[in-house]
Amino acid sequence: MEKILFLAHTQADGTLANSALEALGAALALGGELTVGLVGAAVQAAAGQIGGCGAARWLAVEGEPFGHPRYATDASAAEAIARAAGADLVLAAHTSRWARALPGVAVRFEGRVDTHAASIAMVNQVPAVTRWFYRQRMQAVLTRSARPWFVLLDSGCCPAWSGQPGAAVNIERIATDAATRTTVTGLRAPQAGEQTIRPDARLLFVAGAGWTKKQSDGAVHADKAEELILGFLRASRASLGGSKSLVDQGGEGQAVLTCMTHLNQIGQTGSTPRHPKGLSTCCHGEEPHVVGWRFITERRAINLDANCGWARGKADVLYVADAFAVMERLNRLLDA
Ligand SMILES: Cc1cc2nc3c(=O)[nH]c(=O)nc-3n(C[C@H](O)[C@H](O)[C@H](O)COP(=O)(O)OP(=O)(O)OC[C@H]3O[C@@H](n4cnc5c(N)ncnc54)[C@H](O)[C@@H]3O)c2cc1C
Repeated sequence: MEKILFLAHTQADGTLANSALEALGAALALGGELTVGLVGAAVQAAAGQIGGCGAARWLAVEGEPFGHPRYATDASAAEAIARAAGADLVLAAHTSRWARALPGVAVRFEGRVDTHAASIAMVNQVPAVTRWFYRQRMQAVLTRSARPWFVLLDSGCCPAWSGQPGAAVNIERIATDAATRTTVTGLRAPQAGEQTIRPDARLLFVAGAGWTKKQSDGAVHADKAEELILGFLRASRASLGGSKSLVDQGGEGQAVLTCMTHLNQIGQTGSTPRHPKGLSTCCHGEEPHVVGWRFITERRAINLDANCGWARGKADVLYVADAFAVMERLNRLLDA
């Protein structure tokens, strides 16, 4: 039986993110002996959060230097924990932090790493990983004989572990090298305004370039568009996506939505998020955009054009309507 290590770093508040709980759920579903490895400035809250998961062993690298996302300290912590655990299989959430550090750690072990895994399960008594290729058009099932095997699991693919927080667990704290030439001086977010990308949201709200085009009165209403979109996001806690045409406009000096950056772009050259539902507004629904909706389970769109791309089997429901009017009414209903 494989020795499995579930590796997680804490969030700024010391707890584990939902994506880490999903990776934990996947690790437990494999069966066998599980070691939990935690990294952070302080790990007690995280250990308490998953204390009831039944892990056989708890390891941690703890201290202020390990609270920051930084290659040197993250790799050092992960390596120390993986060596202490003697794991064959190391499972972690595909966070930006682990995606940066764990491939390098795998090299230190002469092991192997697979990122963006969509699932992991025992098949014929060996772990098998599924992974999408060619912009989510083909799925492969991978097994590997090399060990240790580091697997980074994409968020939104597995049910999150939802057991009881446990009583105090016995954590073995491991000392490791915290030396680094990189000093974290602060955090500069790509958006000056509010956070609009919420991977855990139940709804993806997509804004297309139509929001910044001339409307029936012959004028552009970008300010109104932004007010309606942000009002809806605040009330619904949806995640904001954009079409390429819309996010590209900033560089062309056209009317823009200031809440939108290239990070919001959905599609072939953008992201492929996982949300149970999606609502597209003022977006034509062309294939390079809709390919980014691969994992959106229920799709709806609002477009003035009854012949838009969404009408061609890409949406479950198409509302042929003015998105300005629909969103205004929807926001009023949400406010009420
Ligand atoms: C190699 C390649 C890669 C690409 N990658 C991506 C990608 O990753 N993501 C992506 O999005 N695109 C991508 N594109 C571009 C894509 O093909 C489309 O050009 C783009 O998605 C169009 O954006 P849009 O639908 O927002 O804008 P438009 O095509 O301008 O459509 C605007 C829509 O808004 C509607 N509208 C206007 N006013 C209203 C209103 N008041 N109410 C309701 N509807 C209204 C209009 O009817 C229209 O359908 C790629 C293209 C190429 C060639």
